[in-house]
Amino acid sequence: MEPRLRTLPVDDVIAEVGVASAIGIKYVASLLFTYRCTIACKHCLFNCSPGQPDVCVNLEDGIEFMRQLRATDRVIHIAGGEAMMYYPQMLAICQVAHSEGVAPHFFETNASWCADEITARERYEELQAVGIRGVLISADPYHQEFVSPARRERAYRWAVEIFGKENVAASDLSVGDLEELHTISPDSQALAEHTRRHPPRLVGRAGNVLAEYFPDRLLENLAQDPLWHGASSVEDCRSEFDPDDMWEIHVDPYGNIQTCCGIIIGNAHEKPLIEWMREGFHTQNPLVRMVYERGPYALLELAEEYGYQARDGYPQKCGFCWEVRKFLRPFFPDTFGPAEIYEASE
Ligand code: SF4
Ligand code: SF4
Repeated sequence: MEPRLRTLPVDDVIAEVGVASAIGIKYVASLLFTYRCTIACKHCLFNCSPGQPDVCVNLEDGIEFMRQLRATDRVIHIAGGEAMMYYPQMLAICQVAHSEGVAPHFFETNASWCADEITARERYEELQAVGIRGVLISADPYHQEFVSPARRERAYRWAVEIFGKENVAASDLSVGDLEELHTISPDSQALAEHTRRHPPRLVGRAGNVLAEYFPDRLLENLAQDPLWHGASSVEDCRSEFDPDDMWEIHVDPYGNIQTCCGIIIGNAHEKPLIEWMREGFHTQNPLVRMVYERGPYALLELAEEYGYQARDGYPQKCGFCWEVRKFLRPFFPDTFGPAEIYEASE
């Protein structure tokens, strides 16, 4: 990456290299529009599904959160859940945000809404007219268990046509490639092999459903496991909570600010996101300070005070963190939440 680009305002970077490359240069911040989704992928870190509450961000909050997100100078997107389930609400927020110059740069989708050619083209055109520059379209064995090859292929083809390839963060997969992905998730042996080759962070539904594919390892051997975006460390999880280094920041429909799914590090209703960032998330919540300084090892000591019995081993550092957090949640629901992530939803 050219260091010069990192110092430019996000809109200049996007103009130069497109949305897809800008993500890796400026990092991202998202409006997590809803925890509801059309599908329930086995690896979903936010535990999204059709059974989650029928809640999305309201118009007033959506616009305010967009202003706050834009102030970070990151690449801003609408994430979920599947925000396209609430398309009129999403479009309305983007319309007002665009008129103020704070429209999101892209949105994320699983492509399940691309039922036909006209819908795909018209919705992308409408979103482009309200300031959206691009799209991220998921594709892997977990998504393709549910989303048909035709819909994913159509979503990609029209996205490239309307936004341009440099603004589409998605792999160019043929219907044949997608059909192959579709065979993996229902076959437990193939799924186990895929999951071991590409281990997700074992948090949320991934922690509950996919952890069984990995052997337990001793606690002392987990400290240097990769965190969310490749960083490794010794015990601490500093890079995931440092406002300059953290790859991703989410604001959900309740104003909760999160980085690692299920750890609430602030609330955008209390004060603007940029103020939380300036002050440092770990200075404002003792539980966040614990993971910032010593990762889940500090949470384990706290959990043991409340009666938690540690296992001999866990499959992964984030998986270990998830198990301890599930125990701690009833005692600290304001930090280990929201309910959507921790409670069964199917
Ligand atoms: S991973 Fe994405 S598409 Fe899959 S259930 Fe979660 S939010 Fe929905
Ligand atoms: S161990 Fe926990 S706090 Fe650290 S990165 Fe993983 S999920 Fe986040």
